[in-house]
Amino acid sequence: MTVSTFISRLAIRREADPREDAIRVFQRYRKHIESDRNNLVECVSCGRIIHERNAEAGYYISPEESRSVEFENDNMWPQCPYCVSTLSGNRHEFRKRLISKLGIDRVLRLERMRDAEKGNKAAFMTLSKEDRLKALSTHNASYYEYKRREYDAMLRLSSKVDRASSI
Ligand SMILES: [Zn+2]
Repeated sequence: MTVSTFISRLAIRREADPREDAIRVFQRYRKHIESDRNNLVECVSCGRIIHERNAEAGYYISPEESRSVEFENDNMWPQCPYCVSTLSGNRHEFRKRLISKLGIDRVLRLERMRDAEKGNKAAFMTLSKEDRLKALSTHNASYYEYKRREYDAMLRLSSKVDRASSI
């Protein structure tokens, strides 16, 4: 490796955002986990059935709004491009259908983790010890690097299992 290629590799590495990378892998993982044996997924907010390749991964509570729930399975679901773009996330239906899918308690848990993170004491007190820690945690680049590798490994593992069971 020449000095200049080494330096340009360093530059590329510096520009990469570990958090964005981790979220991107988590999105792929969630879509795959929610897909059936034909790689079809159901849009969380309208129920349309589409191929996982054409689906978006939609957050109930966005990572901009809350970091404590950004890697919660309950918070991310396959969504069709129509709901994501044209209906701007189809928020009302998203919540309604999420409640029938998970039950109100699991949806409230996500909302309370977000609120606790913003300093809401009443919300904080309702959380389990583990969720309180999540609400208080700040994350650095190595945390996101770890999460990316974790979801990458789980994605590869679940793809292998799929291949094995289709033989
Ligand atoms: Zn939809």
